[in-house]
Amino acid sequence: MAKKILILGGTAEAARLARRAVDAFGERAQIITSLAGRTRTRSELPGQVRVGGFGGTQGLADYLKADAIDAVIDATHPFAATISAHAATACKEAGVPRLVLVRAPWRPKPGHSWTDVDDLNAAADALVGAAKRAFLTTGRGGIETFAAVPDVWFLVRLMEPPQKPLPLPDHQVIVQRPPFTVESERALLAEHRIDTLVAKNSGGITEAKIDAALAMGVRVVLIRRPPPPPGETVETVEQAMAWLQERI
Ligand code: NAP
Repeated sequence: MAKKILILGGTAEAARLARRAVDAFGERAQIITSLAGRTRTRSELPGQVRVGGFGGTQGLADYLKADAIDAVIDATHPFAATISAHAATACKEAGVPRLVLVRAPWRPKPGHSWTDVDDLNAAADALVGAAKRAFLTTGRGGIETFAAVPDVWFLVRLMEPPQKPLPLPDHQVIVQRPPFTVESERALLAEHRIDTLVAKNSGGITEAKIDAALAMGVRVVLIRRPPPPPGETVETVEQAMAWLQERI
């Protein structure tokens, strides 16, 4: 009988894993990708896709049991701490093996340095009196944290147009999706005369903005990741495939 694999998704790695698993396991596995449903557009995914929250930890545990899920891969974004915590508890309760797939964080290269902060509030504090034109790449959630920062103009990059005006006094929105190149990021920073980049330490392909900013002497304020979820963890799709191979 086909094994049922649930991938908690919303990342490029989750999408790549779904593609690889569908190709590699064929009828031996049923690959289900779960998305929170935050974006209106999403890339084409093979296998099954379910959209929307499970209704907390208990809802996820009930889903795992009712759908007889054989294994879970938590491939959500490193800043999606709530769903990861729910998955850890729910899998334990339902007795379902779980692997965390999370990309490596960015680490400074020789000669590079940036300002590490703990959260959005600390990032906003780090701008006060130090920035005039800031590039915000932290996503839609929590933008209001920057509303009270005085005398700063914000360039805000989002994946989709905002549905209502952003709660920032002085700003411009650009809608762009990765991948980006160091050259295009340099051009953007220069065009808008950015002096400070604010980003989450997401890791992965959006590193071009960090490289571009550091090369141009633009200050980088990087928000640290929340504590990682417990349990076996890998950093690459290949390692996650090897883990699945043992179970299918
Ligand atoms: P979160 O704070 O950890 O989760 C909030 C709630 O959203 C969860 O309790 C769960 O609802 C639901 N949820 C989250 N991910 C889900 C998934 N893959 N499938 C089904 N339900 C999910 O998550 P978030 O930070 O808002 O991120 C939402 C999604 O966007 C994640 O899947 C993540 O991979 C992706 N994403 C997040 C970021 C980021 O910076 N946070 C960046 C890029 C992509 P219930 O409690 O009802 O189950």
